[in-house]
Amino acid sequence: MLSAVVRHSARSVRLCSSYVKQARFLFELKENDETCRQALRSGSFYLFHNFSPLVRKSGSSFYAPAVTGPDLLQVLSSYGKDKINLEDSVLVSCTDSSIAQFAVDLGSFEKSALEEEFSGKFTDLRKAFVQINGEDGCLLSKAQSLLRWHDCHQYCSKSGKPTWKNVSGSKRVCQSNGIIYYPQTSPVVITLVSSGNRCLLAHQESFPAGMYTALAGFCEIGEKLEEAIRREVAEEVGLVVDTISYSGSQHWPFPTSSLMLACQATVKDDRLEINRSEIEDARWFTLEEVIEALQVKILPPKLPDGTFPVWVPPKIAIAHQLIQEWVQEQKALHGS
Ligand SMILES: [Zn+2]
Repeated sequence: MLSAVVRHSARSVRLCSSYVKQARFLFELKENDETCRQALRSGSFYLFHNFSPLVRKSGSSFYAPAVTGPDLLQVLSSYGKDKINLEDSVLVSCTDSSIAQFAVDLGSFEKSALEEEFSGKFTDLRKAFVQINGEDGCLLSKAQSLLRWHDCHQYCSKSGKPTWKNVSGSKRVCQSNGIIYYPQTSPVVITLVSSGNRCLLAHQESFPAGMYTALAGFCEIGEKLEEAIRREVAEEVGLVVDTISYSGSQHWPFPTSSLMLACQATVKDDRLEINRSEIEDARWFTLEEVIEALQVKILPPKLPDGTFPVWVPPKIAIAHQLIQEWVQEQKALHGS
């Protein structure tokens, strides 16, 4: 009897929690085209122009403004009605008060006119990431990945016939054979290898000068997370991974949608055998050297001797968090 009461109250709490409410609301919008169509009328919209988000300045900070559906239609109607259909939008999220949040790409309109109308600038997403706060960054990152995915999946990869987007943009369906396509994300492992009191950071030719970071690579089909980590570390630096511990994850929109899975790994034998076709340089860094690299601003100028100081990716990248985590562990271990 008592357990039934407890179960019931736990269930009520769960259903009342705003997170569950939001998740159920979003599920409904994704599954039901008519509900989503209604939500388009009362929803808010993040604007993009050829995949660059609109960013607005407020004092000394920047944010991604959300425009209401009626405001958007009113502005755009002055440019000709045929050019915009709100159903070209994709559902991104919803607010605490269940207002659906969409993103729409207005690449068919003149950019400067829109910037004036909406008091902002369409900014390359990499640059926008540095300007805006983390929460807006996550929304824009998801929105851009979804818009890009729809742009690249207009046709069925089996029949070559057009695919139809459902209203929310949670899937596309081939008109001729009914194959359903869901937006994809690629898992990428990012691994900070350490050995005793040193950690391994690598530099690739394509990186900006002096930037060193944790090892990263795409998971291959059929691999477990652990297997992908062992393979990447062996391929790139010739080390055998001993232990692995999961640290965290992050969605990353560049170059296409990836799910970065960050882990710490240790090795017993630290003799490097660098694969120069993948990596230009990889080195063991002491705690002091890593702390120093964390203090260097991104894209630093050359040193007087013509070399660049070693620096690591900025806070927004999960690699930075992985490196910080290792630093904190080392400090705790050595009591400093
Ligand atoms: Zn097809």
